[in-house]
Amino acid sequence: MEKEPSSWEDALRQFDKAAKLIDLDSNIYEILTKPKRIIQVSIPVRMDDCSIKVFEGYRVQFNDLLGPTKGGIRFHPQVSLDEVKALAFWMTWKNTVAGLPYGGAKGGVVVDPKKLSEIELENLSRGFIGAFHDFIGPEKDIPAPDVYTNPEIMAWMMDEFSRYEGHTVFGVVTGKPTEIGGSLGRLEATGRGGLFVLEEAMKRLKMRKAVVAIQGFGNVGESFASLLDRRFKIVALSDSKGGIYNKRGLELRKVKVHKEKTGSVLNFPGAKNITNRELLELKCDVLVPAALEKQITPKNANHVQARIVLELANGPVTTEAREILFKRKILSIPDILANAGGVTVSYFEWVQNKIAYAWKKEEVEEKLKEKMVTAFSDIYDVLEKYKVDMGTAAYIYSIKKMIKVLELRGIYKAGVCKPRM
Ligand code: GLU
Repeated sequence: MEKEPSSWEDALRQFDKAAKLIDLDSNIYEILTKPKRIIQVSIPVRMDDCSIKVFEGYRVQFNDLLGPTKGGIRFHPQVSLDEVKALAFWMTWKNTVAGLPYGGAKGGVVVDPKKLSEIELENLSRGFIGAFHDFIGPEKDIPAPDVYTNPEIMAWMMDEFSRYEGHTVFGVVTGKPTEIGGSLGRLEATGRGGLFVLEEAMKRLKMRKAVVAIQGFGNVGESFASLLDRRFKIVALSDSKGGIYNKRGLELRKVKVHKEKTGSVLNFPGAKNITNRELLELKCDVLVPAALEKQITPKNANHVQARIVLELANGPVTTEAREILFKRKILSIPDILANAGGVTVSYFEWVQNKIAYAWKKEEVEEKLKEKMVTAFSDIYDVLEKYKVDMGTAAYIYSIKKMIKVLELRGIYKAGVCKPRM
């Protein structure tokens, strides 16, 4: 059997597919598929027992043609350069899809933050800024939360950067607490943006109600679940330890209390324990992978029983799996559209920091809705025109936008240059 592609290989595979369909110029292909900058650092951190532990960190700034680079920082034991590169590439196209004035970047530290004390976590977060200080800033590269990073960590990072600068610089990171420059509505923005596009998809498929299964109970999965109203019935939920299923529906409020008490959703009274794999193959209308990459692959894509897959995680469905789902008439709403709500409200946060003003929550939500609905409809048009899966359509849409930017900036007039002999 063929070896499973790495995240980066799979990211390129998806890009290649779209590039072929629009006959992308080979020079432009080269420009768009090479990261502008890869920074690898070692971050020494003083631990509680006074020893020093050195953590490996990365920041990949993939492409800054549209503005400063932007994307989260992930603290996870499985972080690798390959993964961060893929995530930075996806951010580039996500920001383009959402119509934001940003390029794409991503950062990561190889660490299991659950094993760190609060002080160690703070030391690591400040250490990250120490290591990357020269490369980030509100006009250069703007980090944000991602897997296992949160507003508290962003607060420490903003504070540390401000110490280097000698004055407070709110706009250096987004996803901060609202008391110190964070935007209202940022915490649940990824989930809310996902719900806006899901509603659009349901309109197209003439669905009024939906039975939902959600993989992942972190910031994104949990806030998405909390936003669902009576049109939706959640039958399955999971976290990193496993999942629970009840075909009559799960009461979210009670699951949250249970998770708080026991540390996991597992063994929730009245529900059946299932594995994360089993969750993906359940009978439901909407399947929401909201955890990590490569969850739906050619190995299980044929067993997915949903009508819509809402890719709230980054890279949860591989390129080949998207093709299989497409052939089976399952609409997989690609990550670079489905989860773009997070970075969109990050952008609003950055704008508010620039003008030193805080918008009302309703204003943020209204602006978010406008961006998500527009992006969905633009990409759906491409899908209908090219008769391709929505992932490929999203790439065709954003690559075309980027070609225009390249032409206008005029740096690389690929294709129009005549060799001088
Ligand atoms: N980490 C989020 C993402 O993958 C948000 C990035 C941001 O807000 O910059 O889209």
